[in-house]
Amino acid sequence: MNTTTKPRDLIHVFEAAGLGIAPFTFAGEVDNGKVTTTCDYCGTGIRYEEIIRDSKGKTFKVGCECVRKTADHHMISLMAEAEKSRKARQKAEAEAAKLQAQRDKNGGQTDGEIQAAKRADEEAQRQEALKAEKEAIRAESLKTNRAVFDLLMPWAISHQTWRQEQWNDLARTYGGAPRILPAGEYFDPSTFLGSVWEQLESKPLMSLSYRQREALTGAAVKGLKRVRKVRCLTKGAAIYKEVQAILLPEDSPGK
Ligand SMILES: [Zn+2]
Repeated sequence: MNTTTKPRDLIHVFEAAGLGIAPFTFAGEVDNGKVTTTCDYCGTGIRYEEIIRDSKGKTFKVGCECVRKTADHHMISLMAEAEKSRKARQKAEAEAAKLQAQRDKNGGQTDGEIQAAKRADEEAQRQEALKAEKEAIRAESLKTNRAVFDLLMPWAISHQTWRQEQWNDLARTYGGAPRILPAGEYFDPSTFLGSVWEQLESKPLMSLSYRQREALTGAAVKGLKRVRKVRCLTKGAAIYKEVQAILLPEDSPGK
């Protein structure tokens, strides 16, 4: 068989067009930024030059459509790879340009950064408002619940450091001096005074339901019954009555 007379349809289209001698390889892509040149195969104006090298090392440029029309799968897949990385690069560049345009417009920050700062600012304001609201409730609670505290304050105890600090804090709030009591002389207030304190601090007495005040009185009674020393035992019963009178007055709504 004479290889110099191979059938026309077996000749590579680029070779048939006189662009070079097969086999051809894809040698890379050149981006001209805009249409500045033409395809060596079909003459169409092209922006992207697909550089093709023939078996002798001679190169020429064609458009991507003409590469696809060759049915030269290896060459097409190499070009597709180059196109893919070029598109990724263009996308990244476009994104960077978009962000830069935003920075130019906003004086240094991107739209996203400005929005994030705005959200952070709103969140800070929200937290600030929540804090103020909590403080207002606490202040109101301390004011309206003071009668109960005035009764319960003397029952502070010293043998738990953090409790002592809490009661010192309470004493400062109410303008009184904290009593440093010997451990064991009084009942341990942490079991009931702590929870009573938390309830009274978080809610004004007036806003507690009858049931809640009943539960609070129950906790106070339980604590008061644990008074261990004789010195306070009789006084304990009197205080209990006073606490009950405040928490559960005769004309309590809901009673
Ligand atoms: Zn072409």
